[in-house]
Amino acid sequence: MKKLVSAGEILVEPGPLLGPYPSGAPAIFIGQAAALGQPAGLIGAVGDDDFGRLNIERLRTLGADVSAIAVHKGHATGTAFVTYRADASRHFVFNIRNSAAGLIETNAAATKLLAGADHVHVMGSSLFSDRAIAVALSAIETVKAKGGTVSFDPNIRREIMQASGMREALDQVLAQAEIFLPSGEELFLFSSARDEKGAVEELLARGLSCIVLKKGAAGAVYHDRHGAVASSGFAVDEVDPTGAGDCFGAAFVSFWLGGAAPAEALLIANACGALAVTRKGPMEGIFPLEAVEAFIATGKNTP
Ligand code: ATP
Ligand code: MG
Repeated sequence: MKKLVSAGEILVEPGPLLGPYPSGAPAIFIGQAAALGQPAGLIGAVGDDDFGRLNIERLRTLGADVSAIAVHKGHATGTAFVTYRADASRHFVFNIRNSAAGLIETNAAATKLLAGADHVHVMGSSLFSDRAIAVALSAIETVKAKGGTVSFDPNIRREIMQASGMREALDQVLAQAEIFLPSGEELFLFSSARDEKGAVEELLARGLSCIVLKKGAAGAVYHDRHGAVASSGFAVDEVDPTGAGDCFGAAFVSFWLGGAAPAEALLIANACGALAVTRKGPMEGIFPLEAVEAFIATGKNTP
């Protein structure tokens, strides 16, 4: 089976009564992919503290390869706080660059993980510093050089995406991606067209294999040069939306790597995205494949 890798921030989020919650978009992505049975590993860094151990333990339990997560003494694991506003928008406060997460590098363990990888997934939020950009671009180069593939979720978090080379890096990643997974307005950051159809056509003409537009509770729409496939979302009670896009993307990419048809990959991805929002904490709604399949079969029931 093909092996999937991502590189980037590994964080913890506070919880009001429970928590801390393991977090970081690429960590959520790799955790969900592994839970579905997809061989998957993460390049990143945590501190030599309980938060770091919590993340590594969670990813390991989900079945992910944690061999390329560096543990740094003297640096704390990164943190993220999410505030939900009345208008449904979110505000994030991150401590990434000055935390252990900022020390991400392509060390010997990362090089070894990449040597066995067939696909790399990049989150835009992981391009938070020149150093993190270098890791992402070198992972793409390594995997592409041996005929591998790339997926890209812009996952725009303006609060951390301040690196001077960030804009150029986003464009570079997109230019090398087969799969593009934007949500909301993110599509229009990469196209001169102002309408969805025009933007999709323009981006497919530039060489992407497919574009998957994430549409929150409404589900998702897949586009490739043969046409579009829409898939509606599952009806669930949304408790916490953060992480849905990462779980959705992990499921879609895992099934795409396994050769699934777009409709099948979308179905599993919508189910994983829906399950993700039913739990507080971005990784608490990650379930194994059997539970996701049972959820699909029984409709509204959550595991
Ligand atoms: P994130 O907050 O992780 O960045 P995103 O903005 O990238 O999320 P969304 O479109 O919000 O992506 O969600 C991704 C997918 O999760 C959707 O396409 C859908 O399948 C599922 N999803 C999200 N919210 C809901 C919901 N309220 N009910 C059912 N499914 C949902
Ligand atoms: Mg997202």
